[in-house]
Amino acid sequence: MSKIENFNFAGKKAIVRVDFNVPLNEKFEITDDTRIRAAVPTIKKILNDGGSAIIMSHLGRPDGVVNPDFSLRHIQSHLAKVLGVDVKFVDNCVGADVKAAAAALNPGEVLLLENLRFHLEEEGKPKLPKDAADDVKKAAKADIKEKQKTFAKELASLADVYVNDAFGTAHRAHASTAIIADYCTGDSKMFGFLIESELSSLEKVLHNPQRPFTAIMGGAKVSSKITIIENLLDKVDNLILGGGMTYTFIKAHGGEVGSSICEPEFLDLALKIEAKAKEKGVKLYLAADVVAADDFKNDANTKVTPSNAIPVGWQGLDAGPESVKTFTEVIEDSATILWNGPVGVFEMENFAKGSIAVANAIVAATDKGAFSLIGGGDSVAAINQFGLADKVSYISTAGGALLEYLEGKTLPGIKAIQG
Ligand code: AMP
Repeated sequence: MSKIENFNFAGKKAIVRVDFNVPLNEKFEITDDTRIRAAVPTIKKILNDGGSAIIMSHLGRPDGVVNPDFSLRHIQSHLAKVLGVDVKFVDNCVGADVKAAAAALNPGEVLLLENLRFHLEEEGKPKLPKDAADDVKKAAKADIKEKQKTFAKELASLADVYVNDAFGTAHRAHASTAIIADYCTGDSKMFGFLIESELSSLEKVLHNPQRPFTAIMGGAKVSSKITIIENLLDKVDNLILGGGMTYTFIKAHGGEVGSSICEPEFLDLALKIEAKAKEKGVKLYLAADVVAADDFKNDANTKVTPSNAIPVGWQGLDAGPESVKTFTEVIEDSATILWNGPVGVFEMENFAKGSIAVANAIVAATDKGAFSLIGGGDSVAAINQFGLADKVSYISTAGGALLEYLEGKTLPGIKAIQG
């Protein structure tokens, strides 16, 4: 496996898988170009070395159909602006025109390919009527898998080198994220700078943490976080469980949770997690008090109650002051911090205080030298909303891929290059 920083792209064509799945408004203007800017260091390195870059990505879910709404042409001029060079565009990602455009590319030039997902081969899933017979489904799956290999081989053939810089899709075994690597030699495939920094940050947290290591897991439901919690119990010293998950744990001990979000089918599991934490010497922190509301609204009536004595008709929507104090002390004493999921309904101002306190404590610990990683959708939205994003060590750009990594799964896009 080659390392991008040591590789010399002079005279070489590199095909780069990026994640340009950016939000567009109704005029097809980019409303947040974070993902485009995140790919710039990799593309610039290729161009500055004297290589040329063939850029490929998906955009939205066109499901194997050519649909102008999802065309990467919408990205072309913005990419040119961000890179400061002209960007050529070809309206397919395979076929004779693409081969010719790639072959004609000179050092320092950039070619953007059309949306990979205009072809079913990218995802490798057949399109079938719901009531298709099993043998029909099986044959169609086998057929598309074969076509996917041909598609991936053709993408690989456009360039001398394959660079994967799309961490956001690294959990998918798609043609451009994983299968393509089968058609590259060991030294002609590598990660881009974005994936490298995601992996080295995750390495610092999950495999080689300075201690004490504290994870703050929040969000709405235990069910969506259970595998991550179980995986983290082998790694952390402290685990703060907050947000909507709190109430399943409180209820498991017979507490009164009113109409707080609660998953009764997970009560046993909650107790098992607590037992496992004890066995492994992990300190588990749950909110002792909460801010309860009489409606799921910002202007609802509120009161602070013990988390196990929430009156009927009231629901816990944020961590209470006593809990915030404990969470803050634990976080500020930590050398490694992972935050995934808000500890309250931070989207409503009146229930954001707990998450703001968590964010501030992470910033304070980071100031003192801790390594802090924020990742997984809503905690990233929260830290951005609080204006503290540049005061933590690392913010992961990935959603599903990060969650699967935290679950301890092997990501196909990573394995394809690391082997
Ligand atoms: P997740 O995607 O699982 O990280 O969930 C994030 C969502 O959980 C956010 O939209 C929060 O508003 C929500 N959330 C956090 N705490 C609570 C709570 N106590 N009750 C209901 N929803 C919550």
